[in-house]
Amino acid sequence: MKSKILREYAKLIAQKGVNVQPGQEVWITASLDQPKFVEVLAKECYQLGAKKVVVDWTHDKLSVLDSKFMSQEAMNETADWEVAKMKYQCDVLPARIYLDSDDPDGMKDARQDKIAAQRIAKYAIRKPYIEAMDNKYQWCIAAVAGKEWAKKVFPNERVSAAVEKLWEAILYTSRALTTPIENWNAHNKNLHEKCDILNSLNLKYLHYKSDNGTDLKVELLEQANFLAGSEKSLQGIEFNPNIPSEEVFTTPKAGAAEGIVYSTKPLSYQGALIENFYVKFKDGKVCEVFAEKNQDLLSQMINMDDGAKMLGECALVPFDSPINNSGILFYNTLFDENASCHLALGRGFSNCIKDFDKYSQQEFDDMGVNTSMIHVDFMIGSKSLDIVGITKDGAKVQIFKNGNWAI
Ligand code: ZN
Repeated sequence: MKSKILREYAKLIAQKGVNVQPGQEVWITASLDQPKFVEVLAKECYQLGAKKVVVDWTHDKLSVLDSKFMSQEAMNETADWEVAKMKYQCDVLPARIYLDSDDPDGMKDARQDKIAAQRIAKYAIRKPYIEAMDNKYQWCIAAVAGKEWAKKVFPNERVSAAVEKLWEAILYTSRALTTPIENWNAHNKNLHEKCDILNSLNLKYLHYKSDNGTDLKVELLEQANFLAGSEKSLQGIEFNPNIPSEEVFTTPKAGAAEGIVYSTKPLSYQGALIENFYVKFKDGKVCEVFAEKNQDLLSQMINMDDGAKMLGECALVPFDSPINNSGILFYNTLFDENASCHLALGRGFSNCIKDFDKYSQQEFDDMGVNTSMIHVDFMIGSKSLDIVGITKDGAKVQIFKNGNWAI
């Protein structure tokens, strides 16, 4: 990909993505295979006045080794310096950029059972820090074309051609091939208008129905808004948490969903793919799951904690989205979630609550904003998906018809 286009894309991430403030620290998490793009991105952050850019490098192959050779006890440990780092992050509130270039199958040989146990143990220590930082800093997830990922998406191409094609697909769907900043200003305006319409309806339920058997009723939170595109941190700094982003989403009432929902795309979870599955809800909690591939991983996922069995997000994405129309299956949640209506199991979004700065964590819990160590999107959109909204007074409003917006 041309270096000028990549520079513009890096600028989009630094400026519209996290909106780096003069004097602010920036922490980038990236995979070891992306030194070049990280360098370009770091430069853009410095040009916006970043005080310091810190990079946390990750490497799936090392994580696989860790999961095989480290004892569970050693994996579960949180060292003093790790705690100090979390405290530092709470004090300094760096802007955080997550670059995703990973092989969708990169962790398939890992000991998923040990990784799950590690996550549970470490979450107990991390939870208060996560809550203390909630909504207080800017963050952004964006994608970079990794070689293994490109070969997974374009298996019949040579590596270099596959990478080029994946770059094109990333930049096209991220509205970053030409004039990215202008595109995102216009895109955010459209998304915010859609939110305004939905928020004016005062919906109490969403009822999902599709030819594949999906029939699910989800209760929404009276205090919650629909959000989309750019958001504001508690400091009033505007940022775009996802590039690309096509979804309009809200946080539903935890423990208030009934029915069954079928997945329409594979789900990439902890570096492995869960395929052709359904999730059944009773009294708001998952009571049954089935998957043709990696059922064990799906079961493990919903048993991570109590909140993992309840919904934390309802997101609306038209079937005719740019990502879906590209015809490419990305095997990556950032893209697949923005190509399809989806739900998430696990943590809800407290910033969907109107005047969220006025409430404590306890008040969010009491309201029904779900808490969990996981937040996993799974895709349910299809050509035949109908969504009917039911208002507080019982009136019905067609929200989606045949997979696309009806409002
Ligand atoms: Zn989402």
